[in-house]
This record gives sequence, C-alpha cells and structure tokens, in this order.
Amino acid sequence: MSDYYEVLGVPRDATAEQIKKAYRRLAMKYHPDVADDPASAEKFKEVGEAYTVLSDQQKRQMYDLGGDPMHAGGGPGGMGGFGFPGGAAGFDVGGLFDAMFGGQGQRGPRSRVRKGQDALVRLSLNLAEAAFGVTKPVLVETAVVCPSCSGRGAADGSEPVTCSTCHGQGDVQAVQRSFLGDIRTVQPCPTCRGYGTVIPHPCGECSGEGRVRSTRTINVKIPAGVSTGNRVHLDSQGEVGPGGGPAGDLYVELAVNPHPVFKRDGDNLEMVAKLPMTAAALGTEVWLDTIDAETEGAPEEDAKVRLEVPSGTQSGTRLVLQGRGVPRLRGAGRGDLGVTLLVQTPTSLDETQRDLLRQLAAERDETRPAATVDHGHKGFFSRLKDAFDG
Ligand SMILES: [Zn+2]
Ligand SMILES: [Zn+2]
Repeated sequence: MSDYYEVLGVPRDATAEQIKKAYRRLAMKYHPDVADDPASAEKFKEVGEAYTVLSDQQKRQMYDLGGDPMHAGGGPGGMGGFGFPGGAAGFDVGGLFDAMFGGQGQRGPRSRVRKGQDALVRLSLNLAEAAFGVTKPVLVETAVVCPSCSGRGAADGSEPVTCSTCHGQGDVQAVQRSFLGDIRTVQPCPTCRGYGTVIPHPCGECSGEGRVRSTRTINVKIPAGVSTGNRVHLDSQGEVGPGGGPAGDLYVELAVNPHPVFKRDGDNLEMVAKLPMTAAALGTEVWLDTIDAETEGAPEEDAKVRLEVPSGTQSGTRLVLQGRGVPRLRGAGRGDLGVTLLVQTPTSLDETQRDLLRQLAAERDETRPAATVDHGHKGFFSRLKDAFDG
C-alpha cells in the first residue's frame, strides 16, 4: 500500500486546498486522455485513491490512525472491519472531476446544434493570375444545412420529443453499491446520447443529422501579389455543423504554377534573353514581353518593355527593369524584372561573314589572341545558374 501523502506529494499536515491542488495537477498529468504511457493509468488510479481518502475529513482521520479506507477488508492482511461513523459515507465521482477541471462540470442536456469545422480547398494559379489577382470559380464540397428539414433533423410534420429515459435532463445517474456506500456517477443518457430529446421520425434526407454533403461552385477573389502557400480566408463557407449549426470557415490554399520564361523571387522576376554578338558589341535596344502581356486588358504600353543594351555588353550581364516584377501583396509598388543576357556567338558563317570577321580580328590585332584568365567567371556562372534554376 502506497503512502497517500507521498502519492500526492504533500506534507502530512497539508490543507484541504493543498491536497486539492496537488490532486488536480497529478490527475491532469496522468489522465489516460493525456498520457499515453501505460504506467500512467495505474498512477492515475493511485492518485485518485489518495485524493478520495485525503479529501474526506473522516477517511483522512482514519488513514492517519493507520487504517486504509480504500483497501479495508480486501486482500491478505487487510485491516478489515473498519466502520464508518455515520454509516454509508459514499463519495461522488463527479466531485473528483470537479476537483480536476475546476468545478462547474457540464450538466444538463447538450445542444444538437454545434458549430461546423473549417474546410480547406486548393487552387492552382498561373503566374499572371498570382501577380495581378483574379476571381476564379472554385468547386467546394462541404456539409450544408439539410434542405428537407432545415437542420431540425425531424421528418416533415414531426417534432423531437423529450427523452423518456432522462426526462430531458440529458444525463443519467448510475449508482454502484460498494463497501464505502453508494457510488454515484453521472453519465450521458444512453437513449438520447445526452441531447435530452429524441427524434422519433428522423428526416429521410439527412437521417436526423440536420446537414447533408453538397458540392457547389463559389467565386473566389484572389488579391494581387499572392504566392504559393498563401491562403484566402472566406468566412462561414466551411462545413455546416451538426444540427445545421453555423458553418466553419473556408480556406483556399494557393499554388502558383511555374512559368516557362519568368522565375519568381519574392516580388522580383528573373528572365534570360539571348543577344547576337554584334548587337552586344555595338549596343542596341530590345523589346521584351512582360508578365503584364498575359493579363487580359493590360495597357499596351505595359505589355512590352524597352531594354537598352549598352555597347560592349558581356554575356551574363544582368540588367534590371524597375517596377516590372510582381505587385506587392501588401503595400504599393512592384518588384523588379531582372534580365540576364546571353551573348550568342555566330555559327554557320558564310564566306563573306568569315571574311568580315577575319578583317575585324586583324583590325583588332586578335588573329593570334592569348587566352587571358578572368577572375570574374565564378560570379558569372552562379548568376546564370540562378537565372535558370530560380
Ligand atoms: Zn434533414
Ligand atoms: Zn435521454
């Protein structure tokens, strides 16, 4: 037999308040719903016994005098024959739960109507939709209020009636006889499952649930500047609760598909453009399609952007077009568009072109050039890799 004071970890002169506090803490810790260690169940029982004895003035006194009110009469060498002054003492298991959960245990019938859960759907967007926002139809499957019974759960023309087992109380008392006297426990009524009413003629469409599953299409407005993982929150568009209870919320989780040209980096976009060697040497201007071009109704002047390539541009140069990236989700303005240029060496030259290049080489004294080591290469390759791989 364990020492009840030790079990609760309180001194022998502990006050009722200390005992209650200690029990509450330990019961929470070892409660089978909380702890999954199998030893906890045993501990939970032990703690419960200790509290049963020490929280009761008479039993505690008896225990202090060397008796064990919990194990009297049982087992080899049991003390046996301990009487209780005042006859059947009895204890209320509900009291234990009051101590555990701070009293005010929920009593009385519970409502059939409960709030529904949140729902989650996923939605794919292309880059332009994510950048500029879009309103899209989304197919949603959730529970909705049963159209047949409007959530009441009873068939047309019938009503829920008061449960005859619990008389509408929702719970019933079970009495167990023991050597301690009667042990009363309060349990949800098995007939009405705690509702206090029964539905004698359940609605045929929802079987009395008050809700049915249904598929509908809703238009979801996606703001500009969203990215993968962002969620759009729609109030009360989730699952309707049991008994036609208020709906939870709907979350639309977004995924942005990769784009063949533009790589996204936060609010910035990156792209790679090829340029003939001659243009890179002489300098030029090129017109590039922007992400705006993929949005209906984008102004003509936004759909294309002029990029000025200075003369002598090297392969791997990154030029920045400010404000041509993705609009910022919260706040004003847009990110930038980075353009990495790849200079193309001409191939399949005809005789005339070959001659021209030879002339150029002679003019530049490059007919027998020596290779020179370029210490900037590392930066160039990693930039290129970034632009391609995102
Ligand atoms: Zn129904
Ligand atoms: Zn009942």
